[in-house]
Amino acid sequence: MIIHANVGGNLRNRYRLSIKHKIGLIILIVIVTGFILPQRFKMPVEGATKGDYNVKSFWYYPWGRSITHKGVDIFAKEGTNLYPSTNGIVIYSGNIDKGGNVILILGPKWRFHYYAHLHDIKAKSFTYVNKNRVIGSVGSSGNAKGKPPHLHYSIITPLPYIWRIDKAKQGWRKIFYLNPIDYLKKL
Ligand SMILES: [Zn+2]
Repeated sequence: MIIHANVGGNLRNRYRLSIKHKIGLIILIVIVTGFILPQRFKMPVEGATKGDYNVKSFWYYPWGRSITHKGVDIFAKEGTNLYPSTNGIVIYSGNIDKGGNVILILGPKWRFHYYAHLHDIKAKSFTYVNKNRVIGSVGSSGNAKGKPPHLHYSIITPLPYIWRIDKAKQGWRKIFYLNPIDYLKKL
């Protein structure tokens, strides 16, 4: 009887371990898949070219209450179609104080893509969007009110890239904010 009970216990322990291993493996696969998914950037503002943004606008200082400019501003006529620059999952779409109408998309490599000052939003939270899908249009909502319509676009990594710290104002925050112009200029 005692032997049987032990065998049963051992089996249960083994079973528990294997479930843990399976969950761990699934999480690992999801994380790795996120990293190896191709990024393949697209210009998010329809018809925009290098002339529609300032190549030095990333980390521009001084930049009002934000201190430095943690993205790029792409200028276009109000209502110009907006596409996601990479495929991804809409984590949030809605209205916030500074950004106005905003969309936050989780894309490849576990990077968040933030689109702000939209005129209108055409993507719901927790939906998958590909690069050919219009997600909204360019506007001047939030703290861009009264300014020429433009898309504010930022790329944020939740995993800190500590080697990117530099001596610029707020330079340590470059561990989270990537320069979108590095990708856009290659298009
Ligand atoms: Zn901006």
